Amino acid sequence: MSRKGFEASSSDKLARLRARMVERQLRPRGIEDERVLQAMGEVPRERFVPESERARAYDDGALPIGNGQTVSQPWIVASMAALLELKGPERVLEVGTGSGYSAAVLSWLCSHVVTIERHEPLARAAGETLGSLGVRNVEIRIGDGSAGVPDRAPFDAIVVTAAAEAGVPPALVDQLVIGAPLVCPIERRRHERLVLVRNGVEQTIAPVRFVPLVEGGD
Ligand code: SAH
Repeated sequence: MSRKGFEASSSDKLARLRARMVERQLRPRGIEDERVLQAMGEVPRERFVPESERARAYDDGALPIGNGQTVSQPWIVASMAALLELKGPERVLEVGTGSGYSAAVLSWLCSHVVTIERHEPLARAAGETLGSLGVRNVEIRIGDGSAGVPDRAPFDAIVVTAAAEAGVPPALVDQLVIGAPLVCPIERRRHERLVLVRNGVEQTIAPVRFVPLVEGGD
């Protein structure tokens, strides 16, 4: 992780837009974890979206990233990261790399991120963006993340950034350290909600909208 890399890559104007995003979109909605707020204030979201979307990088919404996928609204990225209650030494699994933005945020908050994406072009682009920002503690895998990444398990936290229809994939639960948190959007009967699972107990956090988690092959 190179904090200098992020700083060097970003103009004052963009830094101000990020600071405003933190003050207007995140704090008022109850994000209190200062490390999460700091990460959100540092990671240059504009670098993770296509050129055509850059002007909207700090708007209060999701943005298209290609392959029919989206990067989540900043508030959702911050909320999911905050729910993991990361302190620094953790190893985290993310399912759904997408643009790599949320992986970059997580890379600030823990020691190592393994992130898995089923769309190879997205995974490659995310790798390039993270590399260009000097992020060194994110490992990208290509494949079906509903099976987790067994050769890197167990994880101190898991976050899924696509909506699972059949509930939390059991393989992910198996790859968690006992008592560790897992955050996942779940879709049931057309209603999508973000859930936090810890010690097998599922807690609903908020209604959300995510792209679907596509399990198995194409
Ligand atoms: N975290 C991303 C948001 C990505 S949207 C970001 O910050 O940009 C969700 C992503 O999950 C999409 O890129 C989609 O291709 C991916 N995805 C969906 N099902 C998947 C699966 N089974 N395994 C891995 N990735 C998956």
